[in-house]
Amino acid sequence: MTAAARVVRCGQLFDGTGAEPIRNAVIIVENGRVTAVGPAASTAAPAGAETLDLGRHFVMPGLVDAHSHISIVPGMGDQIGQLRQAPVAQALRATANLRRDLLAGTTTMRVMAEENFLDVEVREAIEAGVVIGPRLLCATRGITASNGHGRAVSAFDGVDEIRRGVRENFRRGADHVKIFATGGVSSAGTALQASVYSREEIQAAVEEALRVGKYAAAHAHGGQGLRLSVEEGVATIEHGALATDDDVALMRERGAWLICTFSILMHPTGIEQGDGGRPAIMEKVRWARRVVQDNFPRHLASGIRFACGTDSMHGLMCFELETLVRLGVPARDALLAGTRWGAEACRVDAEIGTLAPGKRADLIAVDGDPLADIQAMRRVALVMKDGAIYEPRGAREAA
Ligand SMILES: [Zn+2]
Repeated sequence: MTAAARVVRCGQLFDGTGAEPIRNAVIIVENGRVTAVGPAASTAAPAGAETLDLGRHFVMPGLVDAHSHISIVPGMGDQIGQLRQAPVAQALRATANLRRDLLAGTTTMRVMAEENFLDVEVREAIEAGVVIGPRLLCATRGITASNGHGRAVSAFDGVDEIRRGVRENFRRGADHVKIFATGGVSSAGTALQASVYSREEIQAAVEEALRVGKYAAAHAHGGQGLRLSVEEGVATIEHGALATDDDVALMRERGAWLICTFSILMHPTGIEQGDGGRPAIMEKVRWARRVVQDNFPRHLASGIRFACGTDSMHGLMCFELETLVRLGVPARDALLAGTRWGAEACRVDAEIGTLAPGKRADLIAVDGDPLADIQAMRRVALVMKDGAIYEPRGAREAA
């Protein structure tokens, strides 16, 4: 980690607080935390501080990928099959995936289900400096039914099994609960609206999370599974492709977040590349793409709180933000969705998501101005996480 104080000179600073970007700003970083932020002319640097010159860059908080998986590569196809592999194969893929994510600007990632408690082990390896990657918030095993979407190895049927499963996940280091409340796009034979779980089962998962001060997130595209999840107090709805205007109104009323995951569906290297040869899945993909184009401009403009995630499209948070803009979200709000709002949805906004005194020193330097052209987010030139610097080009990893 970094011991010395550092003065980060910013060409333009977007601090994520909602304030207008400022030119010629500085951020003072000490012991991995931000201690001061302000105009270069009026912000004093501690004696002996090193300077990091990002004077030609747009500097903003590190990205928060609010929904991903560490071991999956959608373009390889059969995502569930990937989760059924032996842990070593998965760990090796995760190592490469997380490196790509970090170097593309993701400094925090919420992991939305892995087998074998792989996410907890990898989180520990990152914290110990064995491999590089974003800070991980872990779901551990997804809570899904024997015949539910997302079922790889683990399955939990009935209230008692769900309680035991959730409790065991927390014992092993989970940060939140992920419950699969409806079918999904990447598995054949599960309907997007159908709910396998009953109200009592969803309620049990939420209750066990709340009991230990955590929360539940639900994979839910629409229909009964989404309604039940929101009614029972799930904090974030993942995907939500088929949410109706009534569903969105209920989510707003209950304060539930919508977590958008466009890349895996829209990007040519997503499900299309991995499972494009399977007609049952491609049919769902084409249909879901139309639904997204039809529904999301309305949902995103409704006032609902939203954030976004790559859902395993490693290194592609830039594409998520581009898609938000394409669906009518102002560039400024897209940047907030990828930073502060993501931190709020994942309940880590006390530590990250904005560049303000006391926060962790997580920032990225972008070539160009993403407020003018969101595609600039493809050009991340430097990443700082907890004050440590990672440079995608030249691969210098300095402490
Ligand atoms: Zn997912």
